[in-house]
This record gives sequence, C-alpha cells and structure tokens, in this order.
Amino acid sequence: MEKLIITVAPTGAWPTKKDTPYVPITPEEIAQEVYNCWKAGASIAHIHVREDDESPSMNFDKFKETVTLIRERKDCDIILNLTTSGGIGLTDEERMKPFVELRPEMASFDAGTMNWQHRTVFENRPDFLEKLAQTQKENKVKPELEIFDAGMLYNTLYLVEKGLLEPPLHYQFCLGVPGGTAATVENFMHMKSILPQGATFSAFAIGRMHLTILFMTIITGGHVRVGMEDNVLLSKGVLATSNVEFVERVKRVAKEFQREIATPAEAREILGLKR
Ligand code: ZN
Repeated sequence: MEKLIITVAPTGAWPTKKDTPYVPITPEEIAQEVYNCWKAGASIAHIHVREDDESPSMNFDKFKETVTLIRERKDCDIILNLTTSGGIGLTDEERMKPFVELRPEMASFDAGTMNWQHRTVFENRPDFLEKLAQTQKENKVKPELEIFDAGMLYNTLYLVEKGLLEPPLHYQFCLGVPGGTAATVENFMHMKSILPQGATFSAFAIGRMHLTILFMTIITGGHVRVGMEDNVLLSKGVLATSNVEFVERVKRVAKEFQREIATPAEAREILGLKR
C-alpha cells in the first residue's frame, strides 16, 4: 500500500472557543498549530480562517497573514490546502481569491450543492464549479474534490469529460454531515467503488463514526483527514487538547497496520503535485 498522507484541518467554519477552548482561531494560533501538526507527521494542512469574533470567514487578509506565518517557518514544508468554502453567501471571487493570490499547492473543491445540516443551502452551482475548476487549472492549484454524497462524485466525472478537471484526481469523502451521506461502512465502500481509475482518496466522518471511517480508509489504501474542523472529541466526553493528538492517534493506528506515514515530499509524489 501507498504511504499514508495525513491531512490536518485544525479549524473550520466551526467550532468556537465556547465549544472547545483548544481550537485555534487567530492567524498566529492556526499557524502554530499547523507547525506542531507538521512536526507530528501531518503532510497537508487544510486551512480556514475566522474573523476576530470567531465567525466563519473568507477574509483575504486573514488568509494572507496565516499563510505568511506558516511559510516563514522555513523548516516546515507542509502542503497548503486553502478552503474555498469559508462561509455562505459569498461571491465566487471572494471564494477563489485566497488561492489565486496566495498560490497554495491545493485548494478545496466542493463538488455540488446540498442542504447543509437541514438549515441552509451550501451552494456550488454548476457554473461556479466550472469556473472554479478552470481557475484552479490556470493557477496550477490541485483541487481536493470534497464529496458529501455519490452524486457529487458524478459531477466531477462530468467536469473531467469537459476537460476542466484533469487526472490524477484526489477525492475527500466527507461523511456524516446532515444533508449528505451518512457515515457507514457500506456508504464508504460504495463511494470507494465508484472512484475513477487512478484516483487517490482520503476520508473522514464527523461525529461518532469518525474512528470507524478512519480505520476503514487506512485499511483500504486511502488517506486520512483529522482535526477540529471535523471533530473536537478525542473519545466520548473527552476534548482533544490540540490537533496534534488526532495526528498522533493516526500514527498509532497506521503503525499497527504497518502502513508508513508519508512525508510532505512523498505526499507531493503520490498526489502528482508539480510545483
Ligand atoms: Zn474545510
């Protein structure tokens, strides 16, 4: 099996300090957490930023500050993956500006629209997806194809046919979000079974199925994403005191399965990152 790529998502649009005091919020806190996770073995950092009041944000200045602080640590060669979905009701340009201006090696690509947690619409219109794919291609930013249900995977195949997405494709199965596919072993295996040939994939589940999906992806040759964007609990009733604890747990599990952890350089090789 390929070496295992660990992505850390240290902070998402959620949680806040009220949910867990350990979530990094400011650019300084996020950059320090990314550095610590890289030291522990993460090779990709999926980055969100927040406003000063902790609300979800696509504030370009916050992205710039965070990315600059990470890049200033010269020994740290972690792969940056910036979100394009830091909130709702944003313009297409606001969503794309961070990766266009800051040129990370990767950025997220949410491959369809969904009713987000029965509350609101997570909008990714067909014309936006085409524009996003085109802009990522022009900027040589590899899309992390985030798939919340099987239909989204088929959306990506349509874009491959149109020449907007180019293999090798990399998928992220995001399971257990209300409004998307439930996190079950059967759903995981179905999604894996419809992957196009040659694609790499990673997976995570939010909530109590997190560990099950973590084990499934490790034993079936996938890669993993961990972090407080998806989970704040290390075990029932126990908050993780840092994102590093999630990375450390992946390493323990992977060791038992005799799967080695990929360095950032090896992850670049596996994902076909060219610059
Ligand atoms: Zn995210």
